[in-house]
Amino acid sequence: MLRAIELWRGGIDLVSPFRTSFGTDTSRELLYVCAVGDENSGWGECVAGTEPNYSSEYLENCVDVVSRFLVPMLQHDSTAQNFIEAAAPIRGNYMSKACVEAALLDLQLRDQKISLAKFLGATRTSVPSGVSVGIQNSLDDLVRVVGEYLAQGYVRVKLKIEPGSDIELVRRVRKEFGGDLLLQVDANAAYTVADATHLKQLDEFNLLLIEQPLPEDDLAGHVELSRQIKTPICLDESITSFDTARAH
Ligand SMILES: [Mg+2]
Repeated sequence: MLRAIELWRGGIDLVSPFRTSFGTDTSRELLYVCAVGDENSGWGECVAGTEPNYSSEYLENCVDVVSRFLVPMLQHDSTAQNFIEAAAPIRGNYMSKACVEAALLDLQLRDQKISLAKFLGATRTSVPSGVSVGIQNSLDDLVRVVGEYLAQGYVRVKLKIEPGSDIELVRRVRKEFGGDLLLQVDANAAYTVADATHLKQLDEFNLLLIEQPLPEDDLAGHVELSRQIKTPICLDESITSFDTARAH
């Protein structure tokens, strides 16, 4: 039974600065939701960033939505499932809803002594891991950082790109590490469909995909771009829920 909800705030420094087309992060502010039960506690972590750039949601907005709108909906018999149904009238705010849902689900599964993997139907105990590499100060730095990650055992590399730091960067990594490296790029919405001819230069590098090349609401632009380039397009910022993912 749900006895209480606690909100925990914190912050951590990143191991190294993480530069994307949005800017450079050196630390991360954190919000955790703790669902306190009779014997166990469940935890949910909010994924929102400090500023509304990756998403329109941001941490202080999530603190407000969670504490003023979502927590008051909870009852002693709340579950992850009935919470999501109860929270349906609240528009959007998926990151806020997700951290409360995760805390409730974690509490339920701990009470039932079921792992999240078993609950989700996982059939494997490990998966090959990829790494996301931020924009570096130089191509030599990028090669060194990618090499270090590969030495650590990562088998797939995602390079952050932005206008002015894209084609040559991919060319250099392909040249250094060969055609077999599983390689993809993430533009974090930094281009427009007018850049199609420029982005077409990526086709020769046999990338797994280009992630979110255009603004999140420009679905028509992504369709047009997909007609002009061969590299598969992956949506990220555009996907806010399972339902929107299915609709796309
Ligand atoms: Mg992304």
